[in-house]
Amino acid sequence: RLEAYAALRDEPAVTKDGALIDLQMNAGLLLDMPHLKETGASGIGLFRTELPFLIGRTLPTAAEQEHLYREVLRAAGTKPVVFRTADIGSDKRATYMTQPVEANPAMGWRGLRVSLDREGLFRTQLRAMIAAAGGRELRVLLPLVTTVEEVEAARGVIEKELSRRKRGRKPVPSSVIVGVMIEIPSAAWSARSIAAASDFVSIGGNDLAQFFFAADRESALVSSRYDPLCPAFIGFVGRTISEAKAAGRPVGYCGEQASDPLMALVLMGLGLRSLSVTASSVAPLKAMIRSVDLGALSGWLNETLAAPSGELRREVEAYAEAAGV
Ligand code: PEP
Ligand code: MG
Repeated sequence: RLEAYAALRDEPAVTKDGALIDLQMNAGLLLDMPHLKETGASGIGLFRTELPFLIGRTLPTAAEQEHLYREVLRAAGTKPVVFRTADIGSDKRATYMTQPVEANPAMGWRGLRVSLDREGLFRTQLRAMIAAAGGRELRVLLPLVTTVEEVEAARGVIEKELSRRKRGRKPVPSSVIVGVMIEIPSAAWSARSIAAASDFVSIGGNDLAQFFFAADRESALVSSRYDPLCPAFIGFVGRTISEAKAAGRPVGYCGEQASDPLMALVLMGLGLRSLSVTASSVAPLKAMIRSVDLGALSGWLNETLAAPSGELRREVEAYAEAAGV
């Protein structure tokens, strides 16, 4: 099986009926980057930048951040990298930052909320990304977006940093595209307007499911209690995908659930053509994708979701088996 996976590395992630799936991988360390080549993923769909902010004793300097992003881009070669701005705060605590004590940190002061309140921190990180991506495309992803206003405010800060760089007559990225993570139910519900305010959308299923099921992803007692492959969550995600697409924006999924082949299958059936998953899941998913007839799958899924039985996972499993997926 491993050999079969290795042989697939340079093959496209294309379905039997010719739909190309953008199959990317998630990363968070320079150490993850060799997996890009090993797995044959088409790019880094999510680079979590917060790690250096969390493990060090002091805030990483602008130069240190720039160095890391430069190395990541170098390691990616011609493949694209989506840099998510630091998703710190609350449960992801940095020792050198004074942070409020909150009863529900996952729903507290984190992600883009911190970035917009601590503009200096945000600007330093953006400056480092802009410098590192000189001469090539820069893809920035904003975590935990709640409103259109936040997206506009963040874009304003990015513009300021770009102008600053241009004034300094230093190399700028050939283009800057700004994506939003949809990982809060209210943002998912207004995905069309949030997508319209951005250049692309990435559904963060880990947080989205946590808030959707009101089940703390950090609590072993409840984190795996509810299966996201159920009619309620799938219906919700399906609507989110359609709304983002209605705004004419590319939409992908970077939550870890997509590493589950049955979940990935359903997401494709819902119209998603871009997945970013754990490195170890890239090859198995590529094998799955290449065995799927997407037209037949979509038709079957539509009918099944129109009359949900509540046993969606079992139904998908049976479909996959019968269809030879
Ligand atoms: C998510 O929430 O789905 C996500 C990809 O981000 P993180 O797991 O880093 O919160
Ligand atoms: Mg998240």
